[in-house]
Amino acid sequence: MGKEQTSARNRLLRMIPKVDEFLTWTAELAEAPSILVKHAVREVLAEAREAILTGEILNEMELSHPTLLINFQNRLEEKMGPNLRPVINATGVVIHTNLGRSILPMTAMDVLGQIGTRYSNLEFDLTSGKRGSRYSLVEDLLCELTGAEAALVVNNNAAAVLLALDTLASGREVIVSRGQLVEIGGSFRIPEVMAKSGAKLIEVGATNRTHLRDYENAISEATALLLKVHTSNYRITGFTAEVSLETLVELGRRHTLPVMEDLGSGCLIDLSRFGFRKEPTVGEVVNAGVDVVTFSGDKLLGGPQAGLILGKKQVIDRIKKNPLNRALRIDKFTLAALETVLRCYFDEEMALRTIPTLAMLTIPLPDIARRARRLLRLVKSKLAAACRATTVQTISRVGGGALPEQDLPSLAVALAPVDWSVNDLEGKLRALARPVIGRIEEDRLLLDMRTVADDEIAPLARCLLDLFLGEAA
Ligand SMILES: *Cc1c(COP(=O)(O)O)cnc(C)c1O
Repeated sequence: MGKEQTSARNRLLRMIPKVDEFLTWTAELAEAPSILVKHAVREVLAEAREAILTGEILNEMELSHPTLLINFQNRLEEKMGPNLRPVINATGVVIHTNLGRSILPMTAMDVLGQIGTRYSNLEFDLTSGKRGSRYSLVEDLLCELTGAEAALVVNNNAAAVLLALDTLASGREVIVSRGQLVEIGGSFRIPEVMAKSGAKLIEVGATNRTHLRDYENAISEATALLLKVHTSNYRITGFTAEVSLETLVELGRRHTLPVMEDLGSGCLIDLSRFGFRKEPTVGEVVNAGVDVVTFSGDKLLGGPQAGLILGKKQVIDRIKKNPLNRALRIDKFTLAALETVLRCYFDEEMALRTIPTLAMLTIPLPDIARRARRLLRLVKSKLAAACRATTVQTISRVGGGALPEQDLPSLAVALAPVDWSVNDLEGKLRALARPVIGRIEEDRLLLDMRTVADDEIAPLARCLLDLFLGEAA
């Protein structure tokens, strides 16, 4: 580096104010917590120093008071705002794991407010006045809704599978079809969960075909459990064969072996009348005679994150007594939300209407079209010069690893910005105070209106107008 460059750089470095000096400039001081103000100042000044050293900052303007103050204000705002925030899901993926999976009905939120700010009978039996069990609060509901003899609830379905395997098969063998050794996003893999539980995996059959005799031949003294895993996020098609749950249950009876199904995305309602591929409901799985079935609370059930374990009383009682259960127990918020959602299911039509996951999956196309038209009406003519907005047909997804190949015909508002690239637009929408997450397709940003709630349309329109037209909007 030349001598001149070095001295120019040193001159810039000397322009950076001291932290204490900078603090005297900031008006926010009185309102923001001083620790956040100090950290914001330090970070902004350290960033400036770094930018000078790497040559990103070459002139004094970029170190002027107003510029540094704006950087500081932005940084402070970031620090003051919550990290976990609502976003508008315009991806059309209903059970979007990265965006919080299922969203709860408003009624559940009212209950959460009550339970969160008051004492409750979480583990207190109001009849006897003695210590109660937190699980009893939802066990009866689950049994009534599915016909199961007993139930318990843990943190998520991964925990449910781990706990069940640990209880029923630790140190012994579990027989699974090769076609069902699933991996779920976020590193849940049946063989690995099995290893953690201390059970030994015995794979039988071939990837595409497994027969009853494959299970039969693998049964030995060491066998503890027959496991069926619902291949919820993929489908094997073509020349295939699977052993039905009924047949597996019958085999288990003959050898006095328990049978378990990891149902993954358990649904309490048969959605086939809405054009979905027929999948067994939790009630049907219980009815087939399994000893244990596990599924998620926040996939097709549409509740909070939880792992539900249902089945025969004798087996569920053993699982309840496993010390690991204590480490996987759910908190009162989950219980409160789960109870509220489960109660919706006593009236199927009410469940379909009030549980957002189910409502979004079964919303009629004309209603999605109405949302798209409303958004267009609010923005189309005003955006005209800056961004072309049109309605396009698209396909939404169930998500959450449920019903993988199910196409859900939907409608999206497609945005084609004039001056920005579509990637820029995607980034700008993501950076909003209330981020909007869409999907890029063929040089347009698609906002799938299936997952945009009615009361999100006006705010979404406002965001788009602000973004493209700024103060003029
Ligand atoms: C989703 C899923 C899991 C994991 O459930 P989480 O609730 O995400 O822990 C396990 N097994 C199957 C088959 C699944 O689909």
